This record gives sequence, structure tokens and C-alpha cells, in this order.
Amino acid sequence: MSAFPHVDTVAGAGRSERQRDGFVRGARVVSLAAGVEGDAVWWQAGRVRAVGRATDLERKLPVETPRFEFPGAWITPGFVDGHTHFATWALGRWRVQLAGVRSREEALQRVRAGRAESGWVLGQGWDANRWEAPPDRWSLDAVRAEPVYLDSLDVHAAWLNSTALHAAGIDRRTPDPFGGRIVRDANGEPTGLLLERAVELALPALPIPPDDVVTAALREGQAEAHRLGITGIHDVETDSVLAAFRELEREDALRLRVLFHPPVASLSQLVSSGVKSGQGSEWLTIGAVKLFLDGSLGKQTAWMLQPYEGSQDRGMPISTLEHARNAIQTAGRSGIAATVHAIGDAAVRRALDLLEEAPRAAIPHRIEHFQCVDSGDLGRAARLGIVASMQPAHLLTDIPLIDRYWGARGAGAYAFRSILEQGTTVAFGSDVPVAPLDPREGVYAALMRRADDGSPPNGWRPDEALDFETVVRLYSEGCARAAGIASHRGRLAPGMDADLVAWELDGAALMAGEGEAFRRARARLTVVNGEVLMQA
Ligand SMILES: [Zn+2]
Repeated sequence: MSAFPHVDTVAGAGRSERQRDGFVRGARVVSLAAGVEGDAVWWQAGRVRAVGRATDLERKLPVETPRFEFPGAWITPGFVDGHTHFATWALGRWRVQLAGVRSREEALQRVRAGRAESGWVLGQGWDANRWEAPPDRWSLDAVRAEPVYLDSLDVHAAWLNSTALHAAGIDRRTPDPFGGRIVRDANGEPTGLLLERAVELALPALPIPPDDVVTAALREGQAEAHRLGITGIHDVETDSVLAAFRELEREDALRLRVLFHPPVASLSQLVSSGVKSGQGSEWLTIGAVKLFLDGSLGKQTAWMLQPYEGSQDRGMPISTLEHARNAIQTAGRSGIAATVHAIGDAAVRRALDLLEEAPRAAIPHRIEHFQCVDSGDLGRAARLGIVASMQPAHLLTDIPLIDRYWGARGAGAYAFRSILEQGTTVAFGSDVPVAPLDPREGVYAALMRRADDGSPPNGWRPDEALDFETVVRLYSEGCARAAGIASHRGRLAPGMDADLVAWELDGAALMAGEGEAFRRARARLTVVNGEVLMQA
């Protein structure tokens, strides 16, 4: 097996007759359906016809059925990424990449070499936690004359040069907005660093990528998703991205199942145009309106019930109670579900309180991240039918931060097993581009609960670790339940949608509990709606 296999993207847009029958044989089918097992899946017209032993199914197979053989492969339902900023990521792949950059000097070198887009240098992914010098505008000014705008890895901060600050109209007289901060030097001059909602001050100045650029980025991103075994996403983005997905669908080129969460800023428009959650097609469906209650753990802006360890600070709510309540109530009365970003235990509690009193829509309300949960709130999401949308790969970076900032309260963080035992519907995702789109990272994290450096060897709070089948379930059936479509998607059983992946992997190692075995796995076949979209 070569490390860099040849990858064929089988389908293209505009092909009129699409082959939607097939048969794949591997070593084992992880069907997630009770009593359904075997080593092969047969599908017809986009639906699973049968799961079972290849020797039995092959006798019934019409001769013209395309056959795929991957001895040793495990066949799972298609992975759905329950939390993406997909267009941001897809467009960002063409911009200055700062993820993993270890020093400000290295970041500046990349910015110096970066391509300008509509007159701006745009980039993303920086994390200055261990840099030798803070991000500031003067260092950027020294490498680029054009305006420079760089999102942080967690997209809760932005780093701008002087030209960009000027273009955004930010100067020493600009007040900090509610829920945000313009970082200033001793003389009161903005340093070029914007935190939390202060980032929004810069956004109107940024160039808007032309529609054809967005759709081109989505096409490439979709092909990459198929290479990674992803067949669907729950996407949190702006209306222009929804329009781009619609354009792809109109061209019959959309081959990801997209549940689209519009921003709360679009709520009045959604209500006046009669849009409701669950509306759409088998490819593109309206999800829940997205709003934020707090910030992030890394910046200690997640809103906590008690102060951070060794601090008087509890973080902060970034929406007022009235604003959040009005939005959630307005949405619910109009048949629109709400999805609420909540990381700290105070934010999670408020999200539960607000969603509890909101009218129900056709799909469940949900909480994004659901990261630190007070023990008194642990069972509430299950009782209220609220989905917990969680991102296990964040564990790879968060483990040391949780211990440092939350101490014993970390018992309620990423408590996957406890949350499931309460009966909660959990949908797993990545939060790309904050974490990689690659679902193998999240699977590994949920199985092993180790930080990037491999510590602790036995896993952090290992009682909360999940088994492989459960992890797959949260990426497939969990996401289908969150989208209200679990009756026909998310498991491999007769009649279900033929969205599936064959993974080349070391099955013996995986069964022995070695999570690395899936981290090293490779998607060999990705099927969506019965169509083979990637074969490697
Ligand atoms: Zn996100």
C-alpha cells in the first residue's frame, strides 16, 4: 500500500445517466442496524438492497452490477461532519496557511510569500500561544503594504496590519464592541489584534469572493471530503454560501448531503420568506438558525458558572439574554430550530434554559460544542430532546487547557459516555477549519482521548472513551437524527440510503482497541446516494 495512492474522482457534473447500483465486498460491515451484519453491501437505485455474506449476495446479483472488492476493508455508513464552516475552509485552502506555525517570524515569512486576493492578503490558522512575540500590526506592515487580514485558528481573533485597520475604520477612537475587544498598546493605539466580537468590525471591509470562486472552492472541497470518507456536512455559514450550494445543486453537481444552518442575522429574512427547518431536498436542507452565547476555552472567553482556575474571571456571555431569547422564540414560532454555540458551563446552562422554553421545529434544537457541562445539567439535553453537537478532535489540543483552566470541572467536559448514557442524541463533527476536516482525527480522539503529544498514555478521563462502533454511530446515525432523517439514513440496512464508505484498515488492531489503526486507515470507496464518487 503506497502512502500516496492514486485517487480517481469518478463522478463529474452533467453526467445524465448516473450509475446508482453497486456491490462492495470487504471484511466486515459496521451496519449500526440491529441484527444486520456481513462482509458485503449491495445497493440498487441509490438504496441499500441487502447487507450480508458476499457468497450469499453474489448469487442474487444482476450481472451488470458494478462490483468493488477491498479485502480487509471495513464498510461503514457515510461519515457526516456535524459541524463545518465548509466554504470558509474550502476558500481558505487557497490562502495563507498559518496552522502549526511555531513562531511569529515564520508566520511573517508566509505572509510575505502569500498571494493577494482582490487586493488583500488573507490567511488563517495562527495560534500565538507559544510565539516569541505577540501578533501586531507593525510586524505585518514590515512585510506587506496591501491590507492583511489573518484569522486565528479558533476564529475568535483576527490579526490585521495598519492598512487593513484603516480600511476597516478602526483607530484609537473606536470603542470596544459588546462582547469584544480591540487590543491596544500603552498609548491606546490598536495593536492590530481583534478579539471575539471585535473581529466583526473588520469583516465589512474584507473583499467578498466572487460567486464563481466560492462554487469552485466548494467543488474542490467536496472532492476532498469524498477522499476523506465524508458524505455529508452540517454547515454553519452565511447566506452567500447557501446560494453557492444552491447553484451547485442546480447544476446537478452537489454530491454532499448538506444541512445548512443560517446565521441569526438572517432570521428576520428567513421568517418573512417562510423558510422552515427541514425544508429542501435530499441534498440541501435548511437546518437551524445559529447563534453564539460565549467564546472559547483557549482564550478563556467561554462563559463559566465559577471563575477559571486561579482567576477571578468567568469569561463572558457574548449575546444578551434578551437578544438570545427573542431570537430563539421568534425562530421556534416560525418553525425554525435553533442551534446555540455554548462552551462554558454557564453558557450550556443558559442554552438549555432558552431551548427548553422554545417551540419545537421539524428538526431538534441543538447545542454546538456542549463542551463543559455542569453535573446538574448533564441529563437535561436528553430529557428535552436537544442534540449535543460535539467535536472530539478538539480534545487533541484541549486536554492540557481543560486541566489548567477548568480543573475538576473537566469531569463534565467531553464526557461522551456519560452524556450518551443519559440518552442524549450526540452528533460528531470537526468544526473545520478550526480542526481538520479529516474524520480519522476525531475518531482517534474519541477512542483514545490523548493529546497531540500522546499523553496521557492511558487516555485523559478514560472512562469517557467510546468504542469504535459507537463513534461511527455518532458520525452517521447521530447526525441523521440531528437532521430528522434517521429513518432512511445513517445506518446500512435494506431500504436505507446508500451512503457508505469502505475503509482500508488493520481490523485486528482496531478490535484490540488501538485507535491509531483508524488514524492510519484510508477511505478506498465513497458512495453517496448509490453513486461511487471516490475510488482510491
Ligand atoms: Zn464552528
